[in-house]
Amino acid sequence: MEVSTVCREFVNRANRQDWRSAVLNLNGLNMYEMLRAIKALDAADLMSLRTALAALGAAVNRPRIDYALAVVTTNMVPATAPGDLGATGQVAEARRFRGRPTSILVEPIPKDRLTGLNAGVTSASNATMRTRLGAPRTTYSQVCQPVTNAALARRIVTRNVGPFSATGLDSALTSLAEVFTTLAAEQRLVYRVLGSAGMHCARYVRGSTTSVSNHSWGTAIDLKIDDVLDNRGDDQVLFGLHLISPTFNANGWYWGVGFPTEDAMHFEAGSALLQGW
Ligand SMILES: [Zn+2]
Repeated sequence: MEVSTVCREFVNRANRQDWRSAVLNLNGLNMYEMLRAIKALDAADLMSLRTALAALGAAVNRPRIDYALAVVTTNMVPATAPGDLGATGQVAEARRFRGRPTSILVEPIPKDRLTGLNAGVTSASNATMRTRLGAPRTTYSQVCQPVTNAALARRIVTRNVGPFSATGLDSALTSLAEVFTTLAAEQRLVYRVLGSAGMHCARYVRGSTTSVSNHSWGTAIDLKIDDVLDNRGDDQVLFGLHLISPTFNANGWYWGVGFPTEDAMHFEAGSALLQGW
């Protein structure tokens, strides 16, 4: 499933609190996207959206939007549906949503539709990492183990980076905090549901017995959207991860969707960014 252009525009308008335009976009969505787009809003957003909806009057199909709002906010399907919603399968869509009420921000989209990924950013090889920061330890496994390199260990710290606290390389945390400051302003909807699935962890790349993960140096982070982890290797990426990826790239961070095995939850400091660290 792809997220439609109109739905993307809805998210853009909601990010900017341009609620009149957001309601006009919402009005153009099919019931599947309408429910999930509304689910991405918080209580204050919903109040603003309802105000804009009332002001638009007959310019939009208000009964249909009200129906979707009721389904999302009560997680119940109203006993009666307006207009042709029953006949056109939209009531059935609402029942399916109720079974798994997820936000559009966790909608998986195909990786091969994405363009401009990691433009100008390259992943740092193990050799580059060792040259810059030294080897974290001498042996690795699939689980997290302590850093035995004292100089590197001193630089692994825990800090609040905006949406959460993270443990990683000091310079990486500073850069990450800047990324999140930008995202708080430009991707409001995703920012407030961002979570971490871990940053520093000295181990091999999952499934490898030779490649050391950049998590070992504390320069990589795995992110969750609305507490949902992207499935590694299925060549689909959560829409919310796609929305924040340009900001990571612009700040020199590489997105793991470009790895041979797609790893869309993963962002790491790219080669150029590491130069000064
Ligand atoms: Zn990772």
